[in-house]
Order: sequence, then C-alpha cells, then structure tokens
Amino acid sequence: MSGGTFVGMPSFPEAAHDAVNNQTLRANLRHATHTIRGKRAKAVAEMSDWAELREAGKRIKDHTLRHLDRYLVQLEESVTAAGGVVHWAVDADEANRIVIDLVRMTGESEVVKVKSMATQEIGLNEALEAEGIAAYETDLAELIVQLGKDRPSHILVPAIHRNRGEIRDIFAREMSEWGRPAPDGLTDTPAELAEAARLHLREKFLRAKVGVSGANFMVAETGTLVVVESEGNGRMCLTLPETLISVVGIEKIVPTWRDLEVFLQTLPRSSTAERMNPYTSTWTGTTGGDGPQTFHLVLIDNGRTDTLADEVGRQALRCIRCSACLNVCPVYERAGGHAYGSVYPGPIGAILSPQLRGTASEIDASLPYASSLCGACYEVCPVAIDIPEVLVHLRERIVEGGPATREGNKVVLKPAKGHAAERAAMRAARWAFGHPGALRTGQRLASRTRRFHPRTLPGPGRAWSDTRDLPAVPAEPFRDWWQRTHGGKDTTK
Ligand code: SF4
Repeated sequence: MSGGTFVGMPSFPEAAHDAVNNQTLRANLRHATHTIRGKRAKAVAEMSDWAELREAGKRIKDHTLRHLDRYLVQLEESVTAAGGVVHWAVDADEANRIVIDLVRMTGESEVVKVKSMATQEIGLNEALEAEGIAAYETDLAELIVQLGKDRPSHILVPAIHRNRGEIRDIFAREMSEWGRPAPDGLTDTPAELAEAARLHLREKFLRAKVGVSGANFMVAETGTLVVVESEGNGRMCLTLPETLISVVGIEKIVPTWRDLEVFLQTLPRSSTAERMNPYTSTWTGTTGGDGPQTFHLVLIDNGRTDTLADEVGRQALRCIRCSACLNVCPVYERAGGHAYGSVYPGPIGAILSPQLRGTASEIDASLPYASSLCGACYEVCPVAIDIPEVLVHLRERIVEGGPATREGNKVVLKPAKGHAAERAAMRAARWAFGHPGALRTGQRLASRTRRFHPRTLPGPGRAWSDTRDLPAVPAEPFRDWWQRTHGGKDTTK
C-alpha cells in the first residue's frame, strides 16, 4: 500500500493531538457525523429484513473471499470476452506504472476521475502528476480536497472537516489555477457552491479523452463493473471519454447479479441514508458506438492477499466502504480523519491499514489502539465486520509478535523491541486468571492493604497515571461480598 502523502506520519495519539484541540474541526465533525448517523438509523429502520440482508451480505462476501481465486479468473474471462483488457498489479507501484503507460498510449496528458478509494490508496494522482499527467477529481468533495491541496478525512465525505465558508474561500482562490474560475461574488450558499463546481467541471468532462474510476462492485458472471454515486459526475466520466481505466481492489467481486442486489440495498442506506443511489452506473467491456471504446481493468492486490491469510483479520475485506462505522465512532468524531494516516480513516481504517501495510511504521502500529472498543462500529456495519474483535487481534499480534513488516509479498512478524512491561503485565495477568486461588488471595491482600496504595504509579508508569485516576480497590473483593450477601458458593475454592 502506498504511503502516498501519509509517509512518515507520527503515531495516532500524536497525530490526533491538534485535531482534538481544534474547536472548529470538532464542531464540523460533530454536526456532520450526527446528522448522517441519524438519517442512516431512520433509513435502516424502514427495512423489516435488515438483519437478514446484513447476514446475506456477510455470507456472500465470505463465500467470495474463500473462493477468490476462482472468481477472479471468472471475472477476467468475462471482462475479456466483453472487449475489455485485464491487468494485474501486485502493489501500488505496479498499478501506477500500468495506468501511466495506458494514459501515455492514448497520447493524452489529462484524465478525469470518478471518486475512488483504490486510486487514493495507491497514490495515483501523485504518480500521474510526477509523469506530467493532470488528474482532475470530479466528485464535489474530492474537488474541494484537491483544490485545497488537502487530504481526505472521510471515506464518503472526504471534505467533512471543511465548512461552507472554507469551501467558498478555496473555490474563489484556487479554481482559476485549474481551469474555469469561480464566479465573482461567490457566496457560501450550497446552491452557489454546487453551481460553481458544476461549471468548473463541465469543461473538463467535455474535453477529457481518458476517464479513471474505481468500482464499488465487480460481477464475476458477466464481467460488469458497478459504481454508485449521488452527483452524476461519475456517469459523465464513465460515458464521455474514449478510454476508461478502472482500478479496483481484488476483493470487490460479487459472484452474480443476484448477490449484487443485496448490496444495492444495504450500501445506500448505510452510507448516504438513501433508499437507492441517485446514479447506479454499470458497464460491461465495450459497446460499439456507445461510451468508451477502450476499457482497461487494473486489479490490485496491494496487501489484500496478506490480509486474506489472517483468519481473524480477513473479515476487513468484506468492507463495502459505506462509512457508517466512521459516523458512529466516538474516537473518529473527536480525532478527525487525518490522524489515521491513511485514506481509510475511522474504525475500518484502524483494522485495514495495519493489515494492508503491515505494522512497521509508528502510525500503523498505533492504529489498533485508536478505539475504545465500544462496539458501535460493529452494530452499524452492513456486512457485520466485528471490528472490535479484529482490533484486539491486531493488538495481540503487535504485543506478542512485535511489529510486522513486509518482505516481498509476505508479512513477517519480528520480535517486539518495545512493550516489554506491557508483555510482562499481560503474562502475569494470564497466569493469575489461570490460577483462581492465587487471584483470590491477591484480591484479599489488595483490599487489606488498600490504605497504602499509591495514587500514582512509579517510574515510567507515572505518565500513564498522571492523566488518569487509578480505580480505588474496594474494602471487600466482589467474590467475598457475593458470598456474604447471597450465600453463594465461591467456585474458585
Ligand atoms: S467496516 Fe462496515 S461500516 Fe465500516 S465502512 Fe466498511 S462496510 Fe461500512
């Protein structure tokens, strides 16, 4: 996975420090996430069979991932039979190189882009720019991020950290650098901002000969790609250019159209709280005289097969990028998306980035700890990814095995250098819980000596206890109290 603009990020707590103290950012995030989460809850409550749809989505994804080798071959055959060309990329560099070569073959030096997480993951815009090829984002929020020389902070609403006033200033200042300037006297009303973006983008849609997209789904049985969106910019990029290049992660396959039906119900309700997306575009290879006449599909691995090899962690590959988990996460709401150091912020980013990239960097090793494990993310996930379970699993992997690094195509666990005290504490806890008699004796001893317990921890533990109140040890251990008040039998004896 490309580090892209996130290379060298500090750990999550450090990266989140400024955001947590930024009142404007917190107000923007709070307003936006609470609004979306309320609407989502209403849209989901309308469906009496939501639990069944959720279970069906989970099973379809698990089945597809288990037989991914077979479905990928079927997809390649279907796309090729329909007139498309399939390319395989093991990592971000290879994917970027393929796209650059394909654009060069057209003789063009600019492309229009549909909003795509996969191309952001591999840092495609930056790679194209380095080769003198301009990539224009056409999704409104992505346009705001691109014009503002900013980074996305949300999967669905990448400019969620910006308010209307800031967007007006960015449009007024930057649009002329990229093409049609913003109208004079632009205000911050949504209608005027949308119109300014529409006029700015239209000349790019009409001029561009090459479109670049991702895809929400790929249907293996027919080789059909699917993009769902709300603005119609995607439809323009997918139909007007002569050449279309789609860059998609290998996990985006569904076997059949019947399977697709499930996700076309759960995705819009979970993401934008709509009953269906305003635009659902599907394309299968090429059709003479209609739409792009050349179609390339670049399938990227970029850490996905490593993730697939982890029995607990692989459920992250079910993700359909709805962003419902971000909108309910108390940590995301306060820290914002940039602190996650990846194009995948929030709870899904905390389990996906360390698996796709390994945990060698400070930011990736800290991400599994960027959660209170409250479980709200699991409750709303339309494909039932048990994010808390994966977080705990990754913490265990980091503490037990040390940071994982990539060597070639393999993720390798190295002996941990840090966390010695934490590992020793965990070993002691494991022993105590495995010896109930000793645990009981320890609890009674702790209760009897509680007057002498320090309020702060000594040594390196002081930094931890300086900002927390150590819980007071009760005068009587719970088990003793239970036995005394309920006459219960102490099963630990
Ligand atoms: S993890 Fe689940 S809730 Fe979060 S973005 Fe993915 S599908 Fe949506």
